[in-house]
Amino acid sequence: MAFTVAIDGPAAAGKGTVARAVARHFGFAHLDTGLLYRATGRRTLDGTDPVSAAEALRAEDLEADDLRTPDVAQAASRVAAVPEVRRALLDFQRAFARREGGAVLDGRDIGTVICPDAEVKLFVTATDDVRATRRLKELRENGFKTDFDEVLADLRARDARDSARAAAPLKPADDAVLLDTSQMDIDTAVDRAIAEVARRLR
Ligand code: C5P
Repeated sequence: MAFTVAIDGPAAAGKGTVARAVARHFGFAHLDTGLLYRATGRRTLDGTDPVSAAEALRAEDLEADDLRTPDVAQAASRVAAVPEVRRALLDFQRAFARREGGAVLDGRDIGTVICPDAEVKLFVTATDDVRATRRLKELRENGFKTDFDEVLADLRARDARDSARAAAPLKPADDAVLLDTSQMDIDTAVDRAIAEVARRLR
């Protein structure tokens, strides 16, 4: 059985955590599509052209341990605005989405472009301040020296670029269920997401 759960939203809204928990709960495979753009962006920091970087991507590149840095996040959002880069990464994502046994994909354009026919679509958001607070905690736990204002500016710059680009901009699909996690703890957000998927599986 193929069954796709598409989870989109801006940076640090909680979609990765929700996606992993939904996948674990239902025994579905999970793909963090941001890693594809991060791994592509990572290669461009060495001077590789973005399209060649996307075309040459290998599965093991997604395992690199330096993909979560702020520099790589910004590079990811720059390469993500290039239509040929997005095209190079499309087939892999669509094949993953329709694999046997169910799949959860999280990103920016899963419900709108990659899987417009996904069985479940969620759009996870939170206020800028809440997202920056969460991302700051995460970065500090990983040893980065940064502060709230820098993280907030970084998130806003990335969201602005992701929303304004012509190719697959960040926006909710018309039929997506909105999940605002600003006032919600992560367990509540996960429970809501699981309930949506369960409703559609019945
Ligand atoms: O989700 P994450 O923060 O890892 O994504 C990094 C960047 O990759 C985003 O800022 C966005 O520019 C890009 N991206 C995208 N489409 C996706 C997933 C990520 O454009 N489906």
